[in-house]
Amino acid sequence: MANSAKNSFYVTTPIYYVNDVPHIGHAYSTIIADVLARYKRLTGYDVLFLTGTDEHGQKVEKAARDRGLTPQEHCDLMVGPFKELWDRLSISYSDFIRTTQERHIKVVQNIFQKLYDQGDIYKGFYEGWYCIHEETFYPESQLVGGCCPACGREVEWLKEESYYFRSSKYQDRLQAYIKDNPSFV
Ligand SMILES: [Zn+2]
Repeated sequence: MANSAKNSFYVTTPIYYVNDVPHIGHAYSTIIADVLARYKRLTGYDVLFLTGTDEHGQKVEKAARDRGLTPQEHCDLMVGPFKELWDRLSISYSDFIRTTQERHIKVVQNIFQKLYDQGDIYKGFYEGWYCIHEETFYPESQLVGGCCPACGREVEWLKEESYYFRSSKYQDRLQAYIKDNPSFV
């Protein structure tokens, strides 16, 4: 990020899931971010405008399997249509990041290691009814005829080892801050 006398401004789109080619919703979010980036540049800001692709998750794995490809092969093929669309729409992004890139993996590992070392992250288990489509757990009471309440697909019982963030460590500080700054939330 440039470190000049100018005010700097950072904007990012969501990093998009590559389980399929881009649709109008991706364009919508990215055009809004582009408008903001262009406006800030016009008013003298040094702008870093990021977009990219999220290449992890079960949806991506499943899409790859359905096409007979490895997840990486599938992602490599999917990134093209995203970049072509941003070119067609003249999106003025500064950087395109892919979560399978070494530079991304390294930074994420460093952040998680730091959090782990200082006791902010711990290992536990989470289990429940899970719908792959929304990547969401649903309580039994919300299921409709044993299926997902959102999309009607079959749910599966999933138990997974998970890392948790020890938010309780910050409870007192957070409560005090919210009390002292009533407009914060
Ligand atoms: Zn569902």
